[in-house]
Amino acid sequence: MSSRGDGSRTALIVALLLVSLGATFLLAWQAQYAVSLHRAAAESVVRDYAALAADEFIRRSAAKVGYEGYYPLIGTLTRGLAATGDLGKSVPKSEELGQGDERLRAALPLANRYFTTLPGSEALSFEVAAPPIEVRSWLSEQLKRPRDENGPYTVLHGSVADEPVTVVVSEWTDASRRKRVAGFEVNLEALGAYLAPAMEERSLLPPSLGKGEVTNAAIFVSLIDHGGVERFKSGLREFPDFRVEASFGDAYGGVLEGSRVRLSVDPAAAPRLVIGGLPPSRLPVLGGLLLLTAALVATAIREIRRERRLQRLRAEFVANVSHELRTPLAQIRMFAETLLLGRVRSEEESKRSLRIIDREVRRLSHLVENVLQFSRRERDAVALTPDPAPLAPRVEETIEMFQPLVAETGTRIVARLDPEAEAAFDPDALRQVLLNLLDNAAKYGPRRQEIVVGIESRNGATRLFVEDQGPGIPEAERERVFDRFYRLPRESASATAGTGIGLSVVRDLVTRHGGRTHVETAPGGGSRFVVELPAPASEDSRG
Ligand code: ADP
Repeated sequence: MSSRGDGSRTALIVALLLVSLGATFLLAWQAQYAVSLHRAAAESVVRDYAALAADEFIRRSAAKVGYEGYYPLIGTLTRGLAATGDLGKSVPKSEELGQGDERLRAALPLANRYFTTLPGSEALSFEVAAPPIEVRSWLSEQLKRPRDENGPYTVLHGSVADEPVTVVVSEWTDASRRKRVAGFEVNLEALGAYLAPAMEERSLLPPSLGKGEVTNAAIFVSLIDHGGVERFKSGLREFPDFRVEASFGDAYGGVLEGSRVRLSVDPAAAPRLVIGGLPPSRLPVLGGLLLLTAALVATAIREIRRERRLQRLRAEFVANVSHELRTPLAQIRMFAETLLLGRVRSEEESKRSLRIIDREVRRLSHLVENVLQFSRRERDAVALTPDPAPLAPRVEETIEMFQPLVAETGTRIVARLDPEAEAAFDPDALRQVLLNLLDNAAKYGPRRQEIVVGIESRNGATRLFVEDQGPGIPEAERERVFDRFYRLPRESASATAGTGIGLSVVRDLVTRHGGRTHVETAPGGGSRFVVELPAPASEDSRG
């Protein structure tokens, strides 16, 4: 497959991954949208139930105030007045009530000041001290207005000096056919205590809802009178999400007209009211899943790109190896032909040709060794036989082997070897490691440089190092140069041939011996490649 085809296939895979990420995002959004719709529906059901409870509260409290409170109070008053004509004697009193008058007894605190009109006059007479003049004139004003007298009484609501006032009045015609009026001012402050038992009775929600398990403890109610003063409250706190407001209107003869009720239902009761309760938000789970998918897609894309890069590097590697093979082969052929055709003029010249052939053959076999080692590693078929032995003799041997390769460049190789230093190392592997490091030192360093090869023992470990006087390796690249196929960017501009596998073979072989490799700056400014090997005693990882 051409690299262009590969490129467009990679782009296609990346595009498909991104599309599936987009689809996941859409799915998550859809799921969240469905949950929010579901939640909105469930919430509106709970709010409807709250409205139902508010209606029930209005019905219950208006009925109680009207039928059980105002009605018996005003009835007792007017009956007494009709019989005796005396306000003082007509006012219902607790001590005069019998056993059957429990309702009236409970209602007594609701009435504040009883009053009536005197026979043959419109002037009001009050049972006890008369109310302030503003209240009296408001009341006189109200009494002059035409009223709907169909019911047993009329409830007047108003506001005097910013204070809410409620008065209950009844009208009748006396024996001399004169219109008489009697009534009382409502003690609004007593309303709360009067209504409390009605709340304790039974739930404001019909038993068919919530299997009758939702009690008034899950309901907050507040009654605000026509002057904006709260007169009754049940429940410790409101639940703003499920709050409704309703006004009493003219329910039950307008006994609480102008008053409002604010009611809310505890969301904790929702599961009993709505099947499945309030669905919790799925955002954290969906967000987590989205993040996970995005991370997986990002990882997949990174892996694809890495694979692509590796493919490209492999292709380059094959080209580089062929190129590396071509130069020594051309040299060998040329000098072999020279010798075969007897074109040499002197013994010295034929020796030189042979030396060149020898050098190029060594270079070739070194290259082939590296490629073989590399391919063995790729197939995981590296076989090593490490033996504890002093390193110095083997290192000297390798330097000697390498010397002819640099003889012509004037490069000097200086050995600083600790003869005592030992390590358990496969001899062939050691030779290859050192040859690779020497080859790089010679290749990337200047002509006539000094290459130092050293062995030292330190803290029980043995260090082998190779220093050159070349350009060194930038700090940021010191790990990457050990990656397979990796070559410094500057190499692509220079003519220095290479395959990018030398250092990766070095690191692999050293790691298999339980050792470590790194590169640092040499005292002269070049590179110093260091191979650290564990002391023979602690050698445990045999490849
Ligand atoms: P190759 O030498 O075949 O390119 P290596 O794996 O041996 O591959 O080295 C990887 C890269 O590290 C080289 O391409 C070069 O850029 C850099 N490098 C290796 N050794 C040296 C050195 N002694 N001095 C400077 N750069 C080096």
